[in-house]
Amino acid sequence: MRVNHNALKLENNYLFSEVGRRLAAFQKENPDRKLLKCSIGDVTRPLPRIITDAMNSAVEEMGRAETFRGYGAEQGESFLREAIANYYSKRGIQIDPVDIFISDGAKSDLGNMCDLFDADNTVLLPNPVYPVYYDTNVMAGRRVVFLDGSKENGFLPMPDESVKADIIYLCSPNNPTGAVYNRSQLTAWVQYAIDQGAVLLFDAAYESYICDPTLPHSIYEIAGAEQCAIEINSLSKMAGFTGVRCGWSVVPRALQLDGASLHDMWFRRMSTKYNGTSYIIQRAAEKVFSAEGQAAVHEDIAYYMENARILKAALTKAGIWSTGGENAPYVWVQAPDGLGSWEFFDKLLHTYAIAGTPGAGFGTAGEGYLRFSSFGTRETVEAAAALLETL
Ligand code: PLP
Repeated sequence: MRVNHNALKLENNYLFSEVGRRLAAFQKENPDRKLLKCSIGDVTRPLPRIITDAMNSAVEEMGRAETFRGYGAEQGESFLREAIANYYSKRGIQIDPVDIFISDGAKSDLGNMCDLFDADNTVLLPNPVYPVYYDTNVMAGRRVVFLDGSKENGFLPMPDESVKADIIYLCSPNNPTGAVYNRSQLTAWVQYAIDQGAVLLFDAAYESYICDPTLPHSIYEIAGAEQCAIEINSLSKMAGFTGVRCGWSVVPRALQLDGASLHDMWFRRMSTKYNGTSYIIQRAAEKVFSAEGQAAVHEDIAYYMENARILKAALTKAGIWSTGGENAPYVWVQAPDGLGSWEFFDKLLHTYAIAGTPGAGFGTAGEGYLRFSSFGTRETVEAAAALLETL
């Protein structure tokens, strides 16, 4: 018997577990100090009533013989796939509901997509970025190359013609930097993917936080993307579904690579290893895309974005460089006085009881930076901001 030795190559400490461990140790040593959590990217606002009402009536349906449902449609219920297609169409993007697959969230889809690709492919990742892209490909035994983000390129690395890649991940708005690619930058990425014969995996989990009307929310706003790109999205951050679990992927039938239809492969993969997202959750998700649902979730998004503004204003007052926080719920902070990411993390924790997330945990190019999440409560953010001003 042999285990998957690639899985043993993963570093023991998943970033958020290590942050959690240090916070728990701090809290144990300092039980009287209130921890100001601006670290882990989980939402804090409860679900809007209109969403829980939709969930409750789906629960009632399940309890009546006339409306009870067992296994659902393999790709997700058509009412939800149509609601999502309609959401895209409001932005002028035509997506056929047939190309939409409902899941229990973006993390699962990102990991499961690995089933579609050969282990010999080279993966290209921006650095820093959401660690799941790297870890899932390490587990699959793939070679990973990086393009570094920096202050100079606005943490938006652009394709390098000399780098050969088969699978390209983009995260825009980016976790952790909050940077968002503009239309001409995404056009260059689509062209590069087509030239390379590569597949582009576009993670749009934070698109609903984009405030600048000129910035693209979807890769399918770019001509030619349907021939090279899969888009992964989620209701986790758009609608507070981190604990509810619902996401989707768009896998266009136009996407043909290596003589195969990735759409057909994904359909086969999902119908083999997944039995669908709960009907109750899909009804709640459908409501998110209604006019009232969108109004409700945008109130919460505005609340979180105000948190980001408060954090950024405090950092500016303290003379500390930061970026992000304008079209994304993350503020990316340069550690002052040449401190490393974990040193700055420890300093904030031990001096002010403020928790951030060390940038180095998102890739080597994140060293010297720290991520603040704006998903905390206003009370937490205001208390943290008052202390940051004095930094
Ligand atoms: N993609 C990015 C960039 C994320 O930051 C996250 C969660 O933090 C996810 C995907 C995972 O989302 P989900 O909750 O839908 O699994």
